[in-house]
Amino acid sequence: MPTPDTATVLPATLVLIAMGFTGAREEGLLTSLGVDITSRGNIVHDADWATTVDGVFTAGDCARGQSLIVWAIAEGRSCAASVDEHLMGVTSLPRPVRPGEKPVTV
Ligand SMILES: Cc1cc2nc3c(=O)[nH]c(=O)nc-3n(C[C@H](O)[C@H](O)[C@H](O)COP(=O)(O)OP(=O)(O)OC[C@H]3O[C@@H](n4cnc5c(N)ncnc54)[C@H](O)[C@@H]3O)c2cc1C
Repeated sequence: MPTPDTATVLPATLVLIAMGFTGAREEGLLTSLGVDITSRGNIVHDADWATTVDGVFTAGDCARGQSLIVWAIAEGRSCAASVDEHLMGVTSLPRPVRPGEKPVTV
């Protein structure tokens, strides 16, 4: 939300905006699937990475928000275990992390 009366005009010939990841793109796939999105633009999911649509799972930046590749890899592996369990009723795949877990600090 812009702060009133704080606008400044800066002359420039090139402007590069470094925004990084600003949330999952809703139009297209997510809209057609009908998954719920949080107010911060992330895909809503439960403790098993399941979205609000049966059979649709999520992990990584679009679920956690902008983060690090190690989280995306660990979450992707954990999500795969949940998908396996959803399809087969049981899984032996590893779940390195649970949704919302914070990095371990030493
Ligand atoms: C500029 C920048 C620098 C970064 N530097 C680092 C770093 O140094 N170290 C680090 O650990 N992390 C870094 N990150 C973060 C890291 O890149 C992400 O955390 C990681 O890539 C997330 O992986 P992901 O698989 O969740 O998502 P992504 O890697 O974003 O993959 C999502 C994929 O889905 C595709 N996609 C999106 N919508 C659709 C659709 N509708 N249909 C089909 N495909 C679709 C996209 O094209 C993309 O290929 C950086 C991120 C940015 C933006």
